[in-house]
Amino acid sequence: TRPLVEVRNLKMYFPIHSGLMRKHTGDVKAVDDISFDIYEGETLGLVGESGCGKSTVGRALLRLYEPTAGQITIAGDDVASLSPEALRRKRPTMQMVFQDPQASLNPRMTVADIIGEPLDEHSGLSSADKLARIYELMDAVGLNRAFANRYPHAFSGGQRQRIGIARALALNPKFIVCDEPIAALDVSIQAQVVNLLEDLQDRLGLTYLFISHDLSMVRHIADRVAVMYLGQIAEISPVDALYARPLHPYAEALLSAVPEPDPSREGARQRIILKGDVPSPANPPKGCNFCTRCPKVMPVCREVEPRLQEAAPDRLVACHLIHPIDAARAGQTGQAG
Ligand code: SF4
Ligand code: MG
Repeated sequence: TRPLVEVRNLKMYFPIHSGLMRKHTGDVKAVDDISFDIYEGETLGLVGESGCGKSTVGRALLRLYEPTAGQITIAGDDVASLSPEALRRKRPTMQMVFQDPQASLNPRMTVADIIGEPLDEHSGLSSADKLARIYELMDAVGLNRAFANRYPHAFSGGQRQRIGIARALALNPKFIVCDEPIAALDVSIQAQVVNLLEDLQDRLGLTYLFISHDLSMVRHIADRVAVMYLGQIAEISPVDALYARPLHPYAEALLSAVPEPDPSREGARQRIILKGDVPSPANPPKGCNFCTRCPKVMPVCREVEPRLQEAAPDRLVACHLIHPIDAARAGQTGQAG
């Protein structure tokens, strides 16, 4: 498998303006120089505490935000630099399933109109073919065709998310960003929606970025997982390897809160409670961005920013414990070591 999505040095800064003159006084570094790949047909989980920048990454990938810097190559095109017209033509191949199906569906449109809207814009189908396609999509997500002329309020949260998924599928996308797609749903139906997403992935050969704070659900659905902290990636690893033994201290702390499904191994992992608050993304710490909270912090961590590097086959970790920096590089910083 080769990457369908290649992200290189992506930055997403939001300028801060203050004072009467609205002077530019700094930037919120929501996403600060991250690089990763998503392979064709896989699900990459993206996890981290709220505010770490994971939703911003999802939006920047689809260019719902204008990236501050970096390349985002999706199926061969650099999405970050496409002209508006080229972006419009590219749009059908990359779609988003939103967290809140209530807020993302127009309450004054029928289900058929909602699902059919992308078809009007891009497909040029006759009205008979369009209706056939709408029915096909409703079948695919398990919605009864008889409900095509109802409005969103007539549906449960889970059914509304199925409508959102059908709309996302209308133009046969290759890549879908799922941004907390089950967070707003009752626990009892979360698994149904996740199973639907997995089933559609198998049938249609979809590639997912699955953004979630639900680490148990990510373990279930993801092939690989990227762990974000304060706008940067701490670790990217295959899901089983990560959950068995996280290498980055932040990943270790985050995953220590996940219940162990294998009871014979219960107690094998201690819950790690991090001290202090996440620093402001407008003023991240010097050196490693986790150094103010890391239980394993060393002097070098406050001086030199660790790079995301291979730590084991298919595992990338940004930490000086995993990749001790050589004395020469540490010496250049003056007081590291
Ligand atoms: Fe902790 Fe240092 Fe590793 Fe950062 S580089 S995670 S502060 S040990
Ligand atoms: Mg979010």
